[in-house]
Amino acid sequence: TNLAIVQTPVKPVSDKPAKKKKEKLSALCKTPPSIIRTRGGRGYHRGLFLGEGGFARCFQMKDESGEIFAAKTVAKASIKNEKTKTKLLSEIKIHKSMSHINIVGFIDCFEDDTNVYILLEICPNGSLMDLLKTRKTLTEPEVRFFMVQIIGAIRYLHSRRVIHRDLKLGNIFFDPEMNLKIGDFGLASVLGPHSSRKYTICGTPNYIAPEVLEGKNTGHSFEIDIWAIGVMMYALLCGKPPFQSKDVQVIYERIKQNDYHFPNDDKVQISNEAKKLISDILATNPLQRPSLEDILEYPWFKSGSFPKKITVESLRHNPDFS
Ligand code: ADP
Repeated sequence: TNLAIVQTPVKPVSDKPAKKKKEKLSALCKTPPSIIRTRGGRGYHRGLFLGEGGFARCFQMKDESGEIFAAKTVAKASIKNEKTKTKLLSEIKIHKSMSHINIVGFIDCFEDDTNVYILLEICPNGSLMDLLKTRKTLTEPEVRFFMVQIIGAIRYLHSRRVIHRDLKLGNIFFDPEMNLKIGDFGLASVLGPHSSRKYTICGTPNYIAPEVLEGKNTGHSFEIDIWAIGVMMYALLCGKPPFQSKDVQVIYERIKQNDYHFPNDDKVQISNEAKKLISDILATNPLQRPSLEDILEYPWFKSGSFPKKITVESLRHNPDFS
């Protein structure tokens, strides 16, 4: 990329020892100026705050023609060492090389004295996580529709030897037409043609695959994205991830023991076809998990209706597919 990430010295805010060590890194990212000019001379108007993650804050950004984008802003003050800088540059490089209708579009990146800006296609309808929070659970037809889009995007990633490594409901967004877009390539990695990657613990506790926790180095690691698909499908249908617990160590233990159950109450009814697919994906042995192509052949995809389109109405209410 053409980013240099030139650091300007940051004045310490106070000389007292930092008390809140765990403060979010994104808190370092003050609201960017209202107009940002790139070195190439393009100007952008900053708009509304969209949300924040562990590392970045996201704002609306309007270009000179009035088109609106999302700008992921990373404070240079939070890029303290070479490792963080390398990670950010890797996220940019991988995301920049992606082009698929179900992957958040990468537009541009630039920097000023205080921030690095990653300009992305805007996804104004929230994430799958937001949808699940308002709806509690989704219907099987909706989940079928979402799974096909998610799997399409992951097939594209894997065919380019990219492992996302942080697939979760909060990283999959809706575009204005309610198509899903996978975002956040912060943990993604590109696998060499013959290499098998040593697993390092990364990702979000609920979605981590058992082989990552066991630290086993068994061949490829594309299967960790497949595992996350199983966790997401379970969560969308049942309302919470399969290995959920307040205690992270308990989550890890449950993942290693493959200790999960389908809800057994009147409110959440899950078809046997869906249960079969989820339990095959959540196989402890990564080599026993179905491939992306196998998944799409499962009877569940044909065992009920398949919506032509999801509308913004679904953000609030159960849709009627009858
Ligand atoms: P981090 O890498 O710090 O976790 P994310 O990429 O998850 O950052 O982005 C943080 C938040 O910004 C998201 O939770 C979401 O609310 C918002 N966001 C990210 N990308 C977009 C986008 N393309 N369109 C709209 N909002 C976005």
